[in-house]
Amino acid sequence: MGFLDKLKDSAAKLGDTVEKGVKSGSESIKKAAEKSNLKKEISTLETGINDVYVQIGKKFAEANPDNAEYAEFYTTIKDNLAKIETLKAQLINLEDKINCTVCGEPVAKDAKFCDKCGAKVELPVAPVEEAAAEGESAAISEGADIAEGSDSTEG
Ligand SMILES: [Zn+2]
Repeated sequence: MGFLDKLKDSAAKLGDTVEKGVKSGSESIKKAAEKSNLKKEISTLETGINDVYVQIGKKFAEANPDNAEYAEFYTTIKDNLAKIETLKAQLINLEDKINCTVCGEPVAKDAKFCDKCGAKVELPVAPVEEAAAEGESAAISEGADIAEGSDSTEG
């Protein structure tokens, strides 16, 4: 075999190897895509099953609210609902919103009317603590009134 023949031969072999490599590469890409699709399908079906379980659970809970065997679960749900309400209230407060007194939707504090139901927005009554503070300031302003009174007699 001459040098050129040897070169041709090895070039052909190299070509074969490259071709095989490309083939197996495209096959593994195809396989990966198939695997990914199958996994997606399985995951979708599993999610579907879980959704059905949730619906069964809700129906059962509604039909058996006093079931002692599930009391612990019901307590967890109740506690979490209460916590969610508290967190929502905090969130609304941070957003400078209040709940509409009529429909319960969050409304901007400075809005005049609710976007949802059109009810007049009324800011909640001040909590007890602030009311006590107001009482104090009222007493102070009473003193001021007296001072003012004496001023007026002078003037
Ligand atoms: Zn409203």
